[in-house]
Amino acid sequence: MPVDYKKGSPQPDGSPWPSDEVQVCLQALLLREHGYQCDHAELWYAETRQRVRVELTSERLSWAADLVADARAVADRARPPLPLVDSPKCPRCSLVGLCLPDETNALLSRREQPPRRLVPRDPDQRPVYVTEPGAFVGVRSGRLEVTLKKEKLASWRFLDVAQLAVFGRVQISTQALGECFAREIPVLWLSSGGWLQGFALGQPPKYVELRRQQTAAHAQGGAGLAQQMIAGKIMNCRTLLRRNSRGELSSTLAALKRLAQQAREATNFSSLLGIEGTAARMYFGAFPSMLVGGAEPFGAEFSQLGRNRRPPLDPLNALLSFCYAMLTKDLVVVALGVGFDPYLGVYHRSRYGRPSLALDLAEEFRPLIADSVVIGLLNNGEITASDFIRRAGAVSLTADGRRTVLKAYERRLDTEIRHPVFGYRISYRRVLDVQARLLAAVLVGEVPEYIPMVTR
Ligand code: SF4
Repeated sequence: MPVDYKKGSPQPDGSPWPSDEVQVCLQALLLREHGYQCDHAELWYAETRQRVRVELTSERLSWAADLVADARAVADRARPPLPLVDSPKCPRCSLVGLCLPDETNALLSRREQPPRRLVPRDPDQRPVYVTEPGAFVGVRSGRLEVTLKKEKLASWRFLDVAQLAVFGRVQISTQALGECFAREIPVLWLSSGGWLQGFALGQPPKYVELRRQQTAAHAQGGAGLAQQMIAGKIMNCRTLLRRNSRGELSSTLAALKRLAQQAREATNFSSLLGIEGTAARMYFGAFPSMLVGGAEPFGAEFSQLGRNRRPPLDPLNALLSFCYAMLTKDLVVVALGVGFDPYLGVYHRSRYGRPSLALDLAEEFRPLIADSVVIGLLNNGEITASDFIRRAGAVSLTADGRRTVLKAYERRLDTEIRHPVFGYRISYRRVLDVQARLLAAVLVGEVPEYIPMVTR
């Protein structure tokens, strides 16, 4: 006779919960299948110290068999079923961060109240950056440890590590790689300028249906998603200028608003590209007006040279490129976590080695995260001319400068904001994940349209 121990209590009338009942019925059926005689099952509810007997009647057994058949049918479907509405189970469900039940139901108008914030505001894990040239990453006493010439620099519990990102000449031991793979911690290799050179994962993403739909959206030229992403980016650029600029920019702000609307309505890729280019020229033209005090000379040099990259020719461009590279790196990790192929975009064209989907997802966050970090660093004097190296016409950050930028970038990701669509408070770090999951929900047909993250 199976006896299943439950932490809680039975239903108020003393009868077992249906889910508990079916569980012991199935245990009894398994026992029978293995030759045991089994006439009834029992449930022990620890909270009320009650023992409840479950008779194995033919109705109960056929109900249990029907439920198993239903469960198998659901498991065979390419797409998961829609989430439960207002279920008290969701807050304690381990899948809540993947499922986003209230957000999905709100976007489908299946729920009238604003979504409950069921996912933690901020994830517990943080990235580990190793920037010290010649450092070695290994495992000691079950912790991830970084050493330089056998001197310990730092160590972390694997439990606290979201990703391991190493810059330039850093070695990683096979043991550390194996431990990261076993715990699904992505490992990323970046150039000393922050460009993503490669990454490694224990297993490739397993969400095949999502990748199938992603491929279809790519083949259809973005399926309307790119328009929303670019419109979101233009609106966020406008907001950043409106909040920070010291100049008179009313005509630029009005033009950016118009361009965002045109982006939403663009019917083909080339017109969208043209709208984005015009908006970018206007935005970067006005960018120096957001710099004050000691930061103004950086803005003056930027005004002369314009936005440039690979290699950046002035400090402001070096900072922007570095922060965009960090954002792209994080969105590669987020995209892999959701189950996307980060190289197959809906707006950015495929090019060998270009993480196009991560670049797509980055669009609306560039002004909100990367540009905002750059403006803060320069205006607060956290980064000065001595944090850059000028060599053969190119400008890059020094090792100290890079560390300062990484700290500010991580601080920005920790910043909590009120989500403009769902209304709850959440960190930027978590918003990246929520947006990528919403994009996945749109692609697999769960929610009708992608709503970019736009702040006011
Ligand atoms: S979070 Fe999703 S999977 Fe979990 S109980 Fe709610 S609807 Fe079901």
